[in-house]
Amino acid sequence: LLQLYGPLNFLGSVYSAIRTAMVDLEQMFGLIEENVEVADPENPLPIATRLADSAPAQVEFRDVRFGYGPEREILHGVSFVAAPGKKVAIVGSTGAGKSTISRLLFRFYDVWSGAVLVDGHNVRDYRQEDLRAAIGVVPQDTVLFNETIGYNIAYGRLGASLADVEQAARLAQIHDFIMSLPDGYQTQVGERGLKLSGGEKQRVAIARTLLKDPRVLVLDEATSALDTHTEQEIQAALKAVSASRTTLVIAHRLSTIVDADEILVMGQGRVLERGTHEALLASGGQYAAMWAAQGAEGIAERIAG
Ligand code: ADP
Repeated sequence: LLQLYGPLNFLGSVYSAIRTAMVDLEQMFGLIEENVEVADPENPLPIATRLADSAPAQVEFRDVRFGYGPEREILHGVSFVAAPGKKVAIVGSTGAGKSTISRLLFRFYDVWSGAVLVDGHNVRDYRQEDLRAAIGVVPQDTVLFNETIGYNIAYGRLGASLADVEQAARLAQIHDFIMSLPDGYQTQVGERGLKLSGGEKQRVAIARTLLKDPRVLVLDEATSALDTHTEQEIQAALKAVSASRTTLVIAHRLSTIVDADEILVMGQGRVLERGTHEALLASGGQYAAMWAAQGAEGIAERIAG
């Protein structure tokens, strides 16, 4: 893999990888000017980070109340369990509290009351660095840096073998595209190199996450619609990365979460409805209305297209 790193100083690469990873997280969570006041415990519990070394994690929110400032509570007692290897989807209008839930899972903030638990332990009992190593995120928009495409994937796990990088790229449905480029995995991307489309960038992000192999996955689904072909490739890649991994999906299109083990319909900081797709449709509530509306949109788009 050394040739992927090229002439770059190794420590410099590690540094920029960490910085870029932080940029991804900060972008996703809009944290840039936040004052984050969470502290590591004195005697942190160990936590397994990679799925290859352990079982999928369990994630639980137990009656979580939280607000960004003391004057306004945002989550008013949110509870759910994502059992090991299961997929929980969160839907709901803008401002409902979906991203707040994923920020609390990463422990960017501490809850007011109740608890966020991973593997049955409060996230406060882990070192933040360990907790975040156990959770992977595929953000809506991925930051690539001016390096080879191989490197851009490899930084999901520095030290991964070239075979592992290619395997991740295959599963993420981006290997064939990379092989079609003039310099293959050595192709430069970024400002001074190849520009990747939104769908290609997302598949690079998925390949990175496959390499990182975290026990928990957070998918922040892109709001903007991709063309049908790209969408299918992305969905196949997302299936590969979420397979048997405990997954939390912040969903915008209901069509992508019909197979979720539980769907939470959020509104104004509360879980309004919960259940499988079938159960929620049968109950004829808000989810059923959203499903009907998105179905109609889809048909309108196809007619217009
Ligand atoms: P969603 O992801 O469902 O669109 P969010 O979790 O982002 O919703 O937001 C829930 C509520 O919290 C909104 O009212 C939003 O304005 C508020 N909020 C989000 N981030 C912050 C923040 N950093 N500071 C203060 N309020 C915030």
